[in-house]
Amino acid sequence: MHALVIGGGVAGPATAVALRSIGVEVTICEARPREDKDVGLWVMVAPNGLAALDALGLKQTALRESLTGAVGPTGFAPIRRAGLYRLLREAAVARGTRIEHDRKLVDADTSADGVVARFADGSSLTGDLLIGCDGIHSRTRSIIDPAAPVARYIPLLNLGGFASGVDVPGEPAQLQFIRSPKGFFGYTTSGKGEVWWFANLPWGAEPSRAELAAMDRDILTERLLDTFADSPAFVADVIRATYSSLYAQPTHDLPGVPTWRRDRLVILGDAAHATTPTSGQGSSMALEDAVVLAKCLRELPGPQAWARYEQLRRERVEGVVALGARASAAKLDGALPADSLDWVLDYRIDWASPV
Ligand SMILES: Cc1cc2nc3c(=O)[nH]c(=O)nc-3n(C[C@H](O)[C@H](O)[C@H](O)COP(=O)(O)OP(=O)(O)OC[C@H]3O[C@@H](n4cnc5c(N)ncnc54)[C@H](O)[C@@H]3O)c2cc1C
Repeated sequence: MHALVIGGGVAGPATAVALRSIGVEVTICEARPREDKDVGLWVMVAPNGLAALDALGLKQTALRESLTGAVGPTGFAPIRRAGLYRLLREAAVARGTRIEHDRKLVDADTSADGVVARFADGSSLTGDLLIGCDGIHSRTRSIIDPAAPVARYIPLLNLGGFASGVDVPGEPAQLQFIRSPKGFFGYTTSGKGEVWWFANLPWGAEPSRAELAAMDRDILTERLLDTFADSPAFVADVIRATYSSLYAQPTHDLPGVPTWRRDRLVILGDAAHATTPTSGQGSSMALEDAVVLAKCLRELPGPQAWARYEQLRRERVEGVVALGARASAAKLDGALPADSLDWVLDYRIDWASPV
């Protein structure tokens, strides 16, 4: 069996690793070029996400890639997005996956014999299954269902960066929050001067690409310094000591995608259910999806496996998307997120048990 996995972010390579362990041939088709290194900031991988990485045999590799090399006091691990993508891709390749870059999916046709994926450069590939891991603006989602919803704008601008040489309060690898009347600041530290941070600024209308491009570093830095002027002084120190881009981007989520599968096609990760960054769960949900989908394919043929995967995943991921939306709304009201997270964080997948 040959699976075409669309997207080489978190869900794609994780799915490839899981599928290789059950003997499925995998080709990952990634739209971005191979040398693209500009993939954004960092993510907190939650205990449930680390458990999913463990099921893939990758937890220790991920921890080595993390800010401190170990989980923080609450069981989370901060990892650069580029590092997470890289370690997952390397693991997929090491297990026999082929990764093809500059392969932007534009269409797919299914027949009794298989699926043909068509790409923006006019090329095509054939396989038995097509698994859409192509993120929040997924093309696979709209191929499966042309009426599928699109991402919803949440009126918060996300930005952040990597800073060095700053002393900040808090234990290493712990996420800390600072609320100001005009914005929300979060950070984690190595304990040795390295600080990874993000900020959320209320942002009425969704900025266009041109508006985002016009937000240069100096303008954003001034805006941040003004927003957090009344916060503890180290916040301004962190902003000034930032050595990376600030990666300004609008916030989106994707609640309630009614159709996840059709024939030989299925979606997972953000393509099926994106939550706001405030939940801190998007990567972990993508990793869980990958493990569960492979378990289902281990025991059931394609379309039946898709149905079982959806049964096992839909309620949980939609609960997390709702939680993320509440947490973002709380931020807009100047409050801290209030939900209990135990049901999210304590979730474990037993790879060996039948589905
Ligand atoms: C600012 C921000 C902060 C976040 N913080 C956290 C956090 O702390 N913790 C956490 O768990 N999650 C966090 N998330 C969410 C997390 O990043 C996502 O949930 C996660 O990356 C989803 O993985 P994915 O593989 O589904 O999608 P992605 O990682 O987006 O990967 C999709 C891939 O598909 C490719 N692609 C897209 N279209 C096509 C196409 N047509 N053809 C081929 N390839 C295509 C893209 O280039 C990309 O490589 C954050 C998100 C943002 C925006």
